[in-house]
Amino acid sequence: MVKLRKLVWVALSLVLLLQSLARSGEIANLQCDNKDCKHALEFQLGGGMFVKQATGYCSHCKKMVKLTWTSQHALQAGAPVPGPVVKPPKPLAEVWDPATGQVRKIYRCPNGDGAFIEIRDVGDFKWCPKCNRPTMKQDTSKPKVMVD
Ligand SMILES: [Zn+2]
Ligand SMILES: [Zn+2]
Repeated sequence: MVKLRKLVWVALSLVLLLQSLARSGEIANLQCDNKDCKHALEFQLGGGMFVKQATGYCSHCKKMVKLTWTSQHALQAGAPVPGPVVKPPKPLAEVWDPATGQVRKIYRCPNGDGAFIEIRDVGDFKWCPKCNRPTMKQDTSKPKVMVD
């Protein structure tokens, strides 16, 4: 009986690990369509097998910022997590966004000042932070890079 339980546990851990593998991150490239601006941004979405992250644009620092922490799935599955274990950050707020109907998380900027809204999908980034127009487009000329 004990043996079976252990087997189930191992199988479950494997499933969890595979799931987090399948959700590994992606580098997104954005460029402003306004030809007088052409502001370009690069950022990483999602996380890897052991590391989760929240990415966003800090209007105070005027750049993409991110917070990373240890994957709770990996920890629960007993995976050999490399490096020190980092707890998930506590959002400053979770707000319902009437523009999208989604709940958005707001985190404090890791550089100290400012805050950012977590971007979960590259399509969430529509407005250019430089020229303040709805001209941000995904730059598809650059290859999609999957990262772990
Ligand atoms: Zn900042
Ligand atoms: Zn622009």
